[in-house]
Amino acid sequence: MSTPKEKPLYISIKTDLPYAYSAGRPLSKFLVALRDEAKILASRCNNCSYVLVPPRTFCNQCHKPTPDVIEVGPGGTLETFSVINFPFIDPFTGLERPVPYGYGIVKLDGCSNFLPHFLDINDHRKLEIGQRVEATFEPTEKRTAAMTDIKYFRVLI
Ligand SMILES: [Zn+2]
Repeated sequence: MSTPKEKPLYISIKTDLPYAYSAGRPLSKFLVALRDEAKILASRCNNCSYVLVPPRTFCNQCHKPTPDVIEVGPGGTLETFSVINFPFIDPFTGLERPVPYGYGIVKLDGCSNFLPHFLDINDHRKLEIGQRVEATFEPTEKRTAAMTDIKYFRVLI
């Protein structure tokens, strides 16, 4: 085993980078609908009929403007999922997230793309790809116009 000839170089940096960005018109509509109406909105392309959630200004398939916003879900199909058993600090809350919990990729009814989100799992052995799920919203007083206004997707058995 050799000893390094030079001490490793370290660069000390202390950063404080608070930031905010504009959600834009389509995403703002989406977030306000989550908060105020417990509805999930998507954009629909008039050219190719692709439906995107959250809504976008332009279709990501044919690049045409997507002025139409429609309601989708709250039901959907579980396309894939993971069951997380390793505790960590949840960046949404700053608190340790209780384990196990599920994270899934959901294809909402009426949508062409997928929405990743938390799953409600009382018994993770019941989760299956292709299973029907439904969005469960936070109570009105706890909603903040954020993606976490959807508390989780619960499995419909
Ligand atoms: Zn399109």
